[in-house]
Amino acid sequence: MIVTQCTLYTTRLRCLQPFKTASNLSDICRTIVVHLTCNNGLEGWGEAVPKPRLTGDTVSGSLEALGSLFWPRIKGMEVWNLVGLHRELDAASCGYSSAKAAVDMAFYDILSKAAGVSLAAYLGGGVGQEVATDYSIGLTSTDEMLSQAREIVASGFKSIKLKVGLNYHEDVDRVRLLREEVGSQIAIRLDANEGYDYNQAAWVLDKIAPYGVELMEQPLPRWELKQSAKLCRNSPCPIIADESVHSVHDAAAIIEHEAADGLNIKLMKCGGLYPALAIANLARANGLSLMIGGMVGETAVTASCSTALAGVLNFEYADLDSDLLLKDKFFPQAELACQDGKRIAPGAGKGLNLGSPDLKQGEKLALPV
Ligand SMILES: [Mg+2]
Repeated sequence: MIVTQCTLYTTRLRCLQPFKTASNLSDICRTIVVHLTCNNGLEGWGEAVPKPRLTGDTVSGSLEALGSLFWPRIKGMEVWNLVGLHRELDAASCGYSSAKAAVDMAFYDILSKAAGVSLAAYLGGGVGQEVATDYSIGLTSTDEMLSQAREIVASGFKSIKLKVGLNYHEDVDRVRLLREEVGSQIAIRLDANEGYDYNQAAWVLDKIAPYGVELMEQPLPRWELKQSAKLCRNSPCPIIADESVHSVHDAAAIIEHEAADGLNIKLMKCGGLYPALAIANLARANGLSLMIGGMVGETAVTASCSTALAGVLNFEYADLDSDLLLKDKFFPQAELACQDGKRIAPGAGKGLNLGSPDLKQGEKLALPV
């Protein structure tokens, strides 16, 4: 089963509304969808959502990497050879993790189709998987935050992820108001996206203790592992590393420093499902909890892969709303559902069960065969 063709699509997908964090603003998301074809006719889909601030890559750079660095090494490759695939991708470049993730997902899509099972089953998880997810609220006004919170709860979600990290005094007030609005039965998660220094983070964690926050993601800059370890020891809630963990080597450093209670794994950061499995297994062996996350702009391709991974390995936390934040759908027929705050990966069918793409959403670029 040999890879013979690669077609890339560049997209411009609109968000339902602009989404602001302490480090980023998303409105129209430019992404790359990858389509691989094999000599036996099987096809696989993957996607790259480069975020310069998070993954250090761009759409134009990732197109260049896919076409010039990766495709010459992937063309003619045996699809079962995942170890060889990642060896080639890493030999070609130390970066471009989202482009690597795109190729990795397309390989897994093909492999599970060849095995005649869904991706969740291919990963070892049996039939359909359900994963309870939060729904995110960006850095909005207080009124907007409370109005969105009411809608989220009415839609059946049991947890809300609130972006913080721009103004630490206001953040405590926002958490208090959100807790008063949603009551005690809804989990509140915070994500500071590296927005605090140590003293600010310690102050916020102390002040929010009465409001029963479930976890805090990445309060400090990604390199502050020693400071993060100090925060963890005194925090009323688990500290989850996100921007600090891109690779299994980052995970090993976090574990060595005891710099987090859990890891947020995102396929775009680590380069796909194969490296994600390595990070997840290392975390589990060291007693860390696991969260699955995504980047705004990811479609049903990544959301389906992430749901399967988190479901199969029983991740404690899921933040799988990225595709739900988009107005435009590249895969309008995808079988991945969202009901009562749960993502439901299809158990039947083969591969990612994406259905036909809406190719009008993308601009096509065929790579030389
Ligand atoms: Mg985060």
